[in-house]
Amino acid sequence: MTMTTEALRIDGKRLWDALMELAQIGATDKGGVKRLALTDLDRQGRDLVVRWGREAGMTITIDQIGNVFMRRAGTNDALPPVMTGSHIDTQPTGGKFDGNYGVLAGLEVVRTLNDHGIRTEAPIEVAFWTNEEGSRFVPVMMGSGVFCGAFTLEHAYAAKDVDGKTVGEELERIGYRGDQVPGDHPIGAYFETHIEQGPVLEDADKVIGVVPAVMGLSWYDCTVTGMEAHAGPTPMHLRRDAMQVAAKIIPEVVAIANRYPPYGRGTVGMMQVFPNSRNVIPGQVKFSIDLRNVSDELLNRMHDEITAFVDQTARDTGLDIKLERVSYYPPCPFHPDVVGAVRSATAKLGYPAMDVVSGAGHDAIYAARLAPSGMIFVPCKDGISHNEIEDAQPAHLEAGCNVLLHAMLERAKVV
Ligand SMILES: [Zn+2]
Repeated sequence: MTMTTEALRIDGKRLWDALMELAQIGATDKGGVKRLALTDLDRQGRDLVVRWGREAGMTITIDQIGNVFMRRAGTNDALPPVMTGSHIDTQPTGGKFDGNYGVLAGLEVVRTLNDHGIRTEAPIEVAFWTNEEGSRFVPVMMGSGVFCGAFTLEHAYAAKDVDGKTVGEELERIGYRGDQVPGDHPIGAYFETHIEQGPVLEDADKVIGVVPAVMGLSWYDCTVTGMEAHAGPTPMHLRRDAMQVAAKIIPEVVAIANRYPPYGRGTVGMMQVFPNSRNVIPGQVKFSIDLRNVSDELLNRMHDEITAFVDQTARDTGLDIKLERVSYYPPCPFHPDVVGAVRSATAKLGYPAMDVVSGAGHDAIYAARLAPSGMIFVPCKDGISHNEIEDAQPAHLEAGCNVLLHAMLERAKVV
């Protein structure tokens, strides 16, 4: 017999209470959370979530990089699980919701299914990934990155914090160095709920963000080299002023982004002037360029345009200009089936919604390399995160969790 689950809703108060209880571990005076990856506080947070998982009847698997998978059996346990998850580590001045919401929303989905005795054909899993924030140990999104093979377990183990402690030692010390080989764990579909970390939903007065993709980024160092000289005796036509040439390139970064709306982004955020003296014509200026967009094709066009503009400016001015690409992350389009499940669950529940492309990285990017994946965003106050004042409304968190519930049920199939 197939149960009808149309009217099924999660318990928003229970979700909120769980968030507030977890937020007490590492709570800061300003109302935020400081629970850095693989510290004693991280262990306490992990222990609490694992205890809640066990109490909800889930079995626990830990892999060698400390990713934790909590599993609710399906009626056909041979099927790959429909998974949801995120992270519970935070920034040094982190908030209560970033990551934690994605994990506890998954737990709330399982608790709701338990309350109503609902079985699913595919198993359901709630995961939390090690060191998503990358604050204590680099690289970011470490657990999901090792899981999908973006870098090796040895590379991750060797990462050191400022005191010289390694990921391998710290995982062992807190008791979360598991046995399972990372990635040796099939996933049928992956969902991640997260606060938006941007202002778009709040500005548009929407409750749910359907996330079709995560932006890619291209980072450059640009160095303009001229000649230092005295600001007084040197006539204007005999100068090789690196600052004035840099000042021609900088507005072009913004102009390029504006030529590729709505997701083109262009930022110059860092600048060094040599010798940085009031009465010396600058001999060298170095600055950063950050270009982003949602498709490889558009990001490549932006790359071609900045490259051509810099070449032309070098020819026009006769100064030496070096443009070096120092980082590239391709855009991550999410899977149409998973995005579709989020979209139809949102429509069924009647929440005001819009598409929001993520400008920040998430574990879902790495999960997407292995399984159909997608994300659900809810608004956060003033779009602020990575800050102790990070805030979100209980009703929005509840709505996002209801969307997660129905989207996961569509994939896992109620029996
Ligand atoms: Zn996060």
